[in-house]
Amino acid sequence: MINVNKIREDFPILNRMINGKPLIYFDNAATSQTPRQVIDVIVDYYTNYNANIHRGVHTLSQEATDLYEQARAKIQKHFNAKHSHEIILTSGTTHGINLVANGFSSLLNSNDEVLVSALEHHSNIVPWQMLCERTGATLKVIPMNEKGELIMSDYNDLLSKNTKLVFVNHISNALGTINPIAEIISKAHAVGAAVLVDGAQSCPHVQPDVQALDVDFYVASAHKMCGPTGVGLLYGKEEWLNKLPPYQGGGEMIDEVTFEQTTYAGLPHKFEAGTPNICGGIAFGAAVDYMNAIGFDAIATYEHELLEYATNALSEIEGLRIYGTAKEKTSVISFNIEGIHPYDIGTILDKMGIAVRTGHHCAQPIMDFFKIPGTVRASFAFYNTKAEIDALVNGVNKAKMMLS
Ligand SMILES: *Cc1c(COP(=O)(O)O)cnc(C)c1O
Repeated sequence: MINVNKIREDFPILNRMINGKPLIYFDNAATSQTPRQVIDVIVDYYTNYNANIHRGVHTLSQEATDLYEQARAKIQKHFNAKHSHEIILTSGTTHGINLVANGFSSLLNSNDEVLVSALEHHSNIVPWQMLCERTGATLKVIPMNEKGELIMSDYNDLLSKNTKLVFVNHISNALGTINPIAEIISKAHAVGAAVLVDGAQSCPHVQPDVQALDVDFYVASAHKMCGPTGVGLLYGKEEWLNKLPPYQGGGEMIDEVTFEQTTYAGLPHKFEAGTPNICGGIAFGAAVDYMNAIGFDAIATYEHELLEYATNALSEIEGLRIYGTAKEKTSVISFNIEGIHPYDIGTILDKMGIAVRTGHHCAQPIMDFFKIPGTVRASFAFYNTKAEIDALVNGVNKAKMMLS
């Protein structure tokens, strides 16, 4: 059970006033807020441990290295990776996807096909388009229906022995749809294709088990799960990470360098060129600890309650349409009111202290599917309350009155 009043005390930003009103933060799908427990780790790092890692003999460097590697181990345990060297610490989801897409440049040719879902964030589309330009491989799209669910019979038809890669998000940031990734992965494997899952939206809500899923690559960002910006993870199966060439060259990722030839470091360092976001990595570990202390089952149950409550209340507003009505859905509501631009609703809500996102949510193909320029998106986290949702519904009603 979530004790929301107690949890809210962990988030200092929730005491802020915006335009004279208490902040109501419903933009969690863009970035989550940071609890005191994680902020304290960041302050502690720069106060007591700041040093470069992995190469110092001095005490400070060794302590920083230990904290960084402990964080990697926490992340490994959380995602249930078999080996800690299968966890590559990146700058975020986008970095992880680009790393893998770049690595496949030498593994694909013009007979190959790669499949992307219609529900993707731009960062899980554009790097693959660039890969297809480099290799001549063909990009095909798994379509969705009016509810925002992938059409699995079409996916079956698209799969063939030419399919080399499938990339799909676990949960859609624009609509909240939870995709059947276990089925997507097993069907891809049946034709010999590898799968990358974009977990940027799932990690705040569920605890993925990469071994049980048998997924080849899984990427996420710390800042969507109570951690800082600029850090994330790429999980890759050991055999895949060994097969892919390094992404960036530099310090940390080498074994031996001469002007004639360089040999690369082993995993995970082969993919971690340069000084990493050391403090961010350590704080990412603290965020994983924080969320686990609350518990993902409790989080999922509570957020589902918020989703149902908000869906019912918003649906009462005449002229309001919700986009994304999948059966399996997380706490994201994308909506429009007939005849009103989403931006105008967002602006009026901001005057009331309510933060929502408006626009295409980095998923223009989804907006094109519904033939709209964008939506208003309210996304809820475990520190939100039903009283805040009541304020949102009041705010939307007020905006509707002012604008129509
Ligand atoms: C936020 C998000 C991304 C991009 O994450 P970054 O942290 O900006 O790299 C990718 N995919 C989905 C589904 C997202 O929600």
